[in-house]
Amino acid sequence: MADSARKSPGDRDPAPREKMKTPESSAGTTTLKSPAKVHPSVMSGLKLHSQDLAKLVERPQPMETKSDPDAADAIIIGGGPGGYVAAIRVAQLGGKVILVEKDELGGVCLNRGCIPTKVMLSTADVYDTVARRCGEFGVSTGEVSLDYAKAIERRDRVVKQLVSGVGFLMKKHSIQVLKGIGKLISRTEVEVTLADGKKQTVSGRNIIIATGSEAVELPIPGLEGENVWDSDGALNATQVPKTLLVIGGGAIGVEWGYMFAKLGAQVTIVELMSQLLPLTDSEVAAELKKCLEKDGIKILTESRVTKVEHKKGSEIATVLTGESEQKIEAEKILVAVGRRPISEGIGVEELGIATDRGRIVVNERMQTNVPGVYAIGDVVGGLLLAHKASEEGVVAAENIMGRDSKMSYKSIPSAVYTTPEVATVGLTEEAAKDKGIECKVGRFYFRANGKALGLGERDGFVKFVADAKYGEIVGCHMIGPHVTDLIHEVVIGMDSEATVEVIGRAVHAHPTLSEVVKEAALDADGASIHMG
Ligand SMILES: Cc1cc2nc3c(=O)[nH]c(=O)nc-3n(C[C@H](O)[C@H](O)[C@H](O)COP(=O)(O)OP(=O)(O)OC[C@H]3O[C@@H](n4cnc5c(N)ncnc54)[C@H](O)[C@@H]3O)c2cc1C
Repeated sequence: MADSARKSPGDRDPAPREKMKTPESSAGTTTLKSPAKVHPSVMSGLKLHSQDLAKLVERPQPMETKSDPDAADAIIIGGGPGGYVAAIRVAQLGGKVILVEKDELGGVCLNRGCIPTKVMLSTADVYDTVARRCGEFGVSTGEVSLDYAKAIERRDRVVKQLVSGVGFLMKKHSIQVLKGIGKLISRTEVEVTLADGKKQTVSGRNIIIATGSEAVELPIPGLEGENVWDSDGALNATQVPKTLLVIGGGAIGVEWGYMFAKLGAQVTIVELMSQLLPLTDSEVAAELKKCLEKDGIKILTESRVTKVEHKKGSEIATVLTGESEQKIEAEKILVAVGRRPISEGIGVEELGIATDRGRIVVNERMQTNVPGVYAIGDVVGGLLLAHKASEEGVVAAENIMGRDSKMSYKSIPSAVYTTPEVATVGLTEEAAKDKGIECKVGRFYFRANGKALGLGERDGFVKFVADAKYGEIVGCHMIGPHVTDLIHEVVIGMDSEATVEVIGRAVHAHPTLSEVVKEAALDADGASIHMG
């Protein structure tokens, strides 16, 4: 099993207590500044290549044991899905935890990301179904209207319920939550600036940095002011804008654009790359584009906004596509072009913790180059997803508590919650070919599935990419109804190195959407029963 460590977290072997090797000094991209209190093996002023960075953290580090029996086993900075999950796991394994959070528990995910956006997407879908689609099902309604303020109230109630749920879990596991801004002052101490400005220092045998990420701004002339939102700003909207220009066709831009379009806005999405969701399978991205265009969203790929002018309450964006330039007027502009890690101002530099373009460099055990200091979630980069942050939190926690746990990124699913939904795991067909993997591909379409037709959902398909010789699943790419739930049978399949035959021969209940997954897996071996 390629990924045995993550799948066998019960393994109790403690990390070997060997000294870290210092990488060879060479010209490179990252500098470790002279730290105030760092492990002697961290050389000051060391320049590192990225291979060196990997080497620096590639082996388990000695876990420091402190004489203070009252010291926490872990101090965690940041209470998002990375930090609070790590806190629970340390506590489950018998450890004492202090969690430092400057804002609300749950982080971006619960307060400003995953949850509020999904609640609003549900409002958009209900509105769309009642206002536009119910006649198709033989249901008539009177006049339909949207009460956006009430939808926001509902969103905030859901968020509040989940955030207080995390608070309850902290109490249940006797985790001490300190409300304040945390900063590492040594590799065993965190200084917390409390709400009243007072400072408190807490000490622990290990520290986990889980400070997350923030939206990136674009240096486009005129792109400023109250009509320009990032994803946090969009949450503060009190009404649906009549016109919206979204800069960035990644998951966040697409979800916000779709939501406002369904609620009545005229939406244009401008994406620099040649497709929406740039890292996604190109067939899936093309199908999504087709569906969003059917919903009236204008999509400009290989395009960029070069400047913005403000004119009487609206913004005029100049958009360049190839050589041709056009002006697009919009009431609001939403910038959704990515996020950067929050690794500044928290003592990372002073301690000599290695970073690479702001991301904290970690090994597969989530250890940084400084012994006893771990980092997880958005602050370490990679896929910026809540479930990836949580799993990294579990891995860090288990290593802190003496287990030997490793993180694997092979089968982390990604999801986009438009209608149709998008869900992917593993390599795309293109990426597999680039890696020299000889592949076979299987597809099946929702338009040939009874349950999907009953739901009125004809768009989309499931596509398997499998190793040509043995049939092991290399990736799976879905677009269609409820695929964000359907993807998980493939995740488990990939975790257990299953072949497409295993999924194809498993008996799936009828009529279900999951039959599309089964048929697509069978199709990879040319054995789909219902392929027309
Ligand atoms: C609009 C939007 C939609 C998203 N939708 C999804 C989705 O559907 N699915 C998904 O998987 N992911 C989604 N994400 C991404 C997801 O929210 C992040 O990947 C996830 O929250 C990262 O978790 P984290 O614990 O690393 O960091 P965060 O959730 O950012 O939490 C970090 C926490 O640390 C705190 N903090 C920072 N610095 C300090 C300090 N010095 N002292 C004390 N506390 C500090 C912050 O206040 C914050 O609470 C979305 C993101 C956005 C913006």
